[in-house]
Amino acid sequence: MKEISRHPGFYKLPIDERLRVAAQALEIELDELIAAIDRGGLQAETADKIIENVIGTYALPFALGLNFKVNGRDYLVPMAVEEPSVVAAASNAAKMIRAGGGFFADADESIMIGQVQLEYVPNAAEASAAIISHEKELVDLGNRAIPDLLLHGGGVRGLEVRQLTDDMLVVHMLVDCRDAMGANTVNTVCESVSGRIGLLARCRVGLRILSNLCDQRKVRVTVKVPPSAIASKGFSGEQVRDGIAKASRFAEIDPYRAATHNKGVMNGIDAVVIATGNDFRAVEAGAHAYAARSGRYRPLCTFCVDDQGQLLGKMEIPMALGIIGGPTRVHQGARMALRILNVKSARELAQVVASVGLASNLAALRALSTEGIQRGHMTLHARSVAIAAGAQGAQVELVAERIRALGQITVEAAEQVLQDLSNERYST
Ligand code: NAD
Repeated sequence: MKEISRHPGFYKLPIDERLRVAAQALEIELDELIAAIDRGGLQAETADKIIENVIGTYALPFALGLNFKVNGRDYLVPMAVEEPSVVAAASNAAKMIRAGGGFFADADESIMIGQVQLEYVPNAAEASAAIISHEKELVDLGNRAIPDLLLHGGGVRGLEVRQLTDDMLVVHMLVDCRDAMGANTVNTVCESVSGRIGLLARCRVGLRILSNLCDQRKVRVTVKVPPSAIASKGFSGEQVRDGIAKASRFAEIDPYRAATHNKGVMNGIDAVVIATGNDFRAVEAGAHAYAARSGRYRPLCTFCVDDQGQLLGKMEIPMALGIIGGPTRVHQGARMALRILNVKSARELAQVVASVGLASNLAALRALSTEGIQRGHMTLHARSVAIAAGAQGAQVELVAERIRALGQITVEAAEQVLQDLSNERYST
């Protein structure tokens, strides 16, 4: 397997050199790579066709996550995110995880749930029995509405009936969406079967829409990290390992901590989901609903010490992603992001995305359980602060360095440094 994701010192290179290194590793023409992601990968004229009332486009930094090895394969991971340190932290953790063999991931089939709500049901038991006994007819009816998906091997796989109250049922249509996220497809299925379902149940049909709690479309990731790979300044590998396991336990017993723990997971996940043109609201909704499925909000990713003394990390998360459909058809940058990843299926994409989430979480727990999150975070934040204070060009790095050295990473300190720099210039 080619090691395309290892590029020590990548962060020190200027952008045009990074582009050259990436194009070479990915075997993509440099001009093609540059053209695809230029100006955020989306021209205003195209944007105008995607949503309403467009007045321009809105860009985010587009970066590459390094060191990712998932199921033995190397990936350069496109990430679009505004928060400093997300990309550096995930890449750093991926390097530590690599020392233990990388990420091991598997994903369910792409089964999405479409809900048909039934209201004022006169007899819930009879209605439920009638629907279940007509499952084959309803599956065929749903499939007739989505011939394109059938051509790609997907389709309605079955149904389930749930009783919500004495006179309310919901029918779940289970649709294998293959390499599509599937929202539009599933909604089409729901609307096509709802009339017949209403007749069978002898009641009124309510809402017909997919559920974003796609708990039949989960992805699981496991990592084993040797303590030697996670040692940190002044902390042995064993100390860091135990600190991470304790921090994970904190999230398991406290929803206030679990919310921030999961925010760290989503830092990495959203960045790849956005870069690949996928629906991050859908992924977020599914993740948090799944985290709360027991009635209590819990961490999506946990760490413990295994019987060989290694740090064992595990994550399970629902993941509705597409490599076709949605904006991937029209957003040049998203198309290039998928090409950079070179994934062959939506399931493979989900495995990489979840791995980035786990890496982000490991990086956050490692920092929190050692020196704290602020030093690394603020060090990387210093450049943004310098820009906010008005620094331009070469001044940015100069001001960032000075405020780091001062230990005052604030806009006020950066403004003062800029003032000092200009005074120095005039006095020489
Ligand atoms: P879509 O409407 O573009 O449908 C995907 C199409 O791709 C289908 O026609 C399918 O037949 C075709 N296709 C080609 N090759 C395929 C393959 N290998 N596997 C599967 N399908 C293949 O997109 P979608 O995925 O149905 O819907 C996604 C969009 O819906 C997103 O933009 C999302 O934001 C939006 N949406 C989301 C929600 C929600 O999450 N609640 C609700 C409504 C709409």
